[in-house]
Order: sequence, then C-alpha cells, then structure tokens
Amino acid sequence: MLIVMTAQATEADIERVCRKIESLGFRPHPMPGANRTAIGITGNPGPVDPAEFEDFPGVAEAIRVSKPYKLVSREVKAEDSVVRVKGVPVGGEEIVFCAGPCSVENREQILEAAHAVKAAGAQLLRGGAYKPRTSPYAFQGLGEEGLKLLAEAREATGLGIVTESIDVEVFDMVEDYADCVQIGARNMQNFSLLRRAGRAKKPILLKRGMSSTLEEFLMAAEYILSEGNYNVILCERGVRTFTDHSRNTLDLSVVPAVQKLSHLPIIVDPSHGTGKRERVHPMSLAAIACGAAGLIVEVHPAPEHALSDGHQSLYPDQFAEVVEDCRAIAHLLAHRGAREHVHA
Ligand code: PEP
Ligand code: MN
Repeated sequence: MLIVMTAQATEADIERVCRKIESLGFRPHPMPGANRTAIGITGNPGPVDPAEFEDFPGVAEAIRVSKPYKLVSREVKAEDSVVRVKGVPVGGEEIVFCAGPCSVENREQILEAAHAVKAAGAQLLRGGAYKPRTSPYAFQGLGEEGLKLLAEAREATGLGIVTESIDVEVFDMVEDYADCVQIGARNMQNFSLLRRAGRAKKPILLKRGMSSTLEEFLMAAEYILSEGNYNVILCERGVRTFTDHSRNTLDLSVVPAVQKLSHLPIIVDPSHGTGKRERVHPMSLAAIACGAAGLIVEVHPAPEHALSDGHQSLYPDQFAEVVEDCRAIAHLLAHRGAREHVHA
C-alpha cells in the first residue's frame, strides 16, 4: 500500500498519515519526490483498507503496489534517487568512479593506490579489509588494521571510502570507518546482514548475487530500505553462466531493466564482471553507454604482486584511460539527452 499525498500537502499532513500508519501497527516510509511525497507502508501482513486514509487532509489517493518490492520501486518514487557518499552524488548528472585494490595489503600499497586513482579522476576509494575468499587458506584481509589504513588514505586524499562488511559481526566496526558499506555478491541474500545494513547510518553498496534474478536483486535492496536506510546503490558485477572465456558474464542489460523498475542508482563492476584486465576497458565503456551511474574498478599499483584479484586489476595509467574514455561517452550521451530517454 502506498499513500500518495497531493503536491500541496504540508509536513503536518504527512506526519498525521505517518502516525495513523503507526497506530495500525505498521511502519510508514515517507519518500519525497519532485512533485509530491508518497508514503510506503511496510509490516502489514495483508492489504490495508484505503478507506482508512481517504479523508485525511493532503491525501491524493491510496493505491496498492503491484510489485512484490515496494520501497525500491518507481511506483513509490518516480524520480531517480541520488545517494551521497561523503558528499559525492551517485546517480546524479555526473558519472562516478570508485577505484582501488581488491584488498588493502599494507600502508604503502593503499596510499599509492589512493593517490593514483584520485589523480586519474576517481571520487571514491575501494579496498577490502574483510575479504570473502573461496579458500579458507587465501588472504582474508587485514581486518581492523585495513580499515585504519583506509581511513588514513581518506585523510591523505579526501576520497570517500567504500569497503565490505562480510557479516553482522564486523558490521559495526566497518560502519565506523567506511563512508559506504559494501555487501558482496556472496551475501546478497544474507538477510540478517541486509537488515543490519538497513539500520546503518551509512549508504550501502549492494552487489548482485552471482546467480540472482533481477527480482531477487531488488528484493535484497528492499530488505535494506524496509529497515529505514534508503541510501542504497546497486551494483551489477557479473553472473555465472556456462561461458568459460570470462570469470563471470557481465549482464549489462540489467542496468536499463533496473532503471525501469527502480529509482535506485546502479553502477557496474567490470573487474569481477570479466575477471580479465584486458576486458575491463571495453566493458567499462559499454557500462557507461548503457546508462550506469558509475563504475567500481579494481586498480593496483603493482597488480602482479596483488594478494587478491591481481589478474583483473588495472595499472593506474590504464584506469586513467578508462576514466577519460568513459567521460567522453557520458558527455556525448548528455549532449544528446540520451539519459532522459533511459526510462521511456
Ligand atoms: C570485491 O569487490 O572485491 C568482491 C569480492 O566483489 P563480489 O562480492 O562482487 O565478488
Ligand atoms: Mn576483488
């Protein structure tokens, strides 16, 4: 159920409807849009009677939401959401580059990477301190020490930090250091982790599970929004297919599909999406061409010595070329007004 307020509705009108929803034992989610506010209702086990709200001042209509997801849907909010990570708007006019190594390895490595990606034009720094590795014997990340080094890199460069929380146990600590908390592909349906992310004060970068459908992806985001955190950035990072020429199959067609259904911004990870350094540049261009809000790219000062994902990590000068070429494509699209046609 969705309560659509009139364009003239006052704060007091919205507040009154929210209190009514709470008095019924449900949770209100006011979502301000460009022309009007819609109030999503969650926690209701069955349909809510629209008649309960029709006589409230400022209410335009009470409508049923046709999709299984509500708060992530364009039915609740027609306009694109812009999520700010340390002041950097993701989903706005400008495309965003988040770049850095797969894992934080030591002070020199992360500082060198941070300075290099900043010089190339990145606005955000990525780097894992807690790594979800297939093998229990592989490098698992530096833990809190890695988070401290990321904070030092932020201090040195001003870049916002995106880093992963692999479970509920470490979430508090990751949230303290990060500007945006990543939930990785392997955890896309870790529902207790999603709920914890929904109670976070920081924005969340939610990566698509490697075998998830579009609906499962959006439902995972819905978990986060349903707990009150509306600052979610989606990320396509490739899915498993029968193909063996790449690590994953980067499903770029999910970008316009998400944009049609959801107001949340979606970025693309061409590094995990291909698993091969030489594929990162062409797929980055394709991602921006199909309307992605930005990229998250693995960049390492010396990929041949990386402790994880070196074969898909770019050298800093290669990343600089990615930024330059992607900006040229974004500029061309903006010039042609193509981005406005994405949801048509
Ligand atoms: C990563 O970003 O390094 C990572 C592990 O990503 P994913 O969860 O997409 O595999
Ligand atoms: Mn990686």
